[in-house]
Order: sequence, then C-alpha cells, then structure tokens
Amino acid sequence: MRNQTNKLKIIAILFLSFIGFTSSVMALQTSTEMRTIKKGKFTLNFICKSADFSEEINQKLINTFFEVYPTLVKTYNKKSPKVVTFVVDPEYDGVAATSDDKVIFSVKYMSSHSGDIDVVTHEVMHIVQAYGQHSGMPGWVTEGIADYVRYAYGIDNAGAGWRLPDLSEKHNYQNSYRITARFFAWLELNHKGIIQKLDQAGRDKTYEECAL
Ligand SMILES: [Zn+2]
Repeated sequence: MRNQTNKLKIIAILFLSFIGFTSSVMALQTSTEMRTIKKGKFTLNFICKSADFSEEINQKLINTFFEVYPTLVKTYNKKSPKVVTFVVDPEYDGVAATSDDKVIFSVKYMSSHSGDIDVVTHEVMHIVQAYGQHSGMPGWVTEGIADYVRYAYGIDNAGAGWRLPDLSEKHNYQNSYRITARFFAWLELNHKGIIQKLDQAGRDKTYEECAL
C-alpha cells in the first residue's frame, strides 16, 4: 500500500513537471497576436508580426522597455505617454523608427544583432522628447540626445560593442548620433543638468544655437 502511494506520488510529480515543461516551451513560442503588458503606470502594447522571430528577443525588447522607459520619463518629461506600442515588423527595412508613441523594430536587424537591445533605449527617448514639428531642434541635437541617453541609461551597451567614439580631428559636434553624444556627455560632466534643459528647450520650442 505504501509502495503504491509512493508510486502515485512519483507519477504526479512527473505529470506536473511535464505540464511545467510544456508551458515553458509554449511560452517561448512567438505569437503574432497583440499582447498588452502593464507594469505600474506604464503599458506596452506589443505586436510581433513574424511567427518565426525569436521569442527570446521579444522578451528582451519588452524587459528593456520596462527597465528604461520609466526612468527616462521621470528624468526628462513626466508628461510622456504612459501607453507605448512596439511593432516587430518583417517588412520594415531600417533598424528601428519611432513616431509619436509607437516604435517599429526590424525583424532582420534584431535577428542578426540580438545583443543590440539598447536600440530600445534610443528609440523610446524619441517618445519622451516629443518635440513635435517646428520645435527648432536640429536633427543632430535630437539624435545626439537620444544617443547620449543610450550611453547614460543603456542596459547593455558593452554587450553590443556600442560605445562613444574616441575624439578625432575629423569629428564635429554636429556630426549627430554618437559623435554629438560624446560632446553632450562632456557638457553634462561639466554642467550637470544641461542635457535635461536642452531637451526641455525642444518641447518649449525655445532652442537657439547660442544656448549651447
Ligand atoms: Zn534616432
């Protein structure tokens, strides 16, 4: 009788382990349905349009959003949208792009650069920036701030081999992206809070070249 009970227990454990195993495998399958993930004040609507795309990378995109976005909202623009949409799109040709509260990621790029997860950090900063049209902010400042933020708040730039370039005579601070970001990092080091002011000037439409 005792043996019988032990046997039943073992079967039950095996059965439960099997269920656990199956559900964890199923959880890693990629769904193309929209999922809505809510954490605290923030909601992410997530759509992956490719069933072949890695679910592991989807999870990394989602986790990076929740790790980085609330901090950027708090630091730069508390009025930023609380609901954001991510679309992982096999038809999209670039790396990633943001308009309003929506970011599109390229299936091709993210599949071949799965470590470059701080593309999320750069793109969601564009949501926070929300300069709109006619802000007077030049593109090099907008992109420079987004890359500065990636440098300052990114979660795994080293893992992606992403860093600010060394100083070179060929560089000009208006070269945009990482080159401008290095200039902004230097500015922030010497004038704490200046990037927050610069970013705010974009929303207030008060940016002037002499402000730098
Ligand atoms: Zn950008």
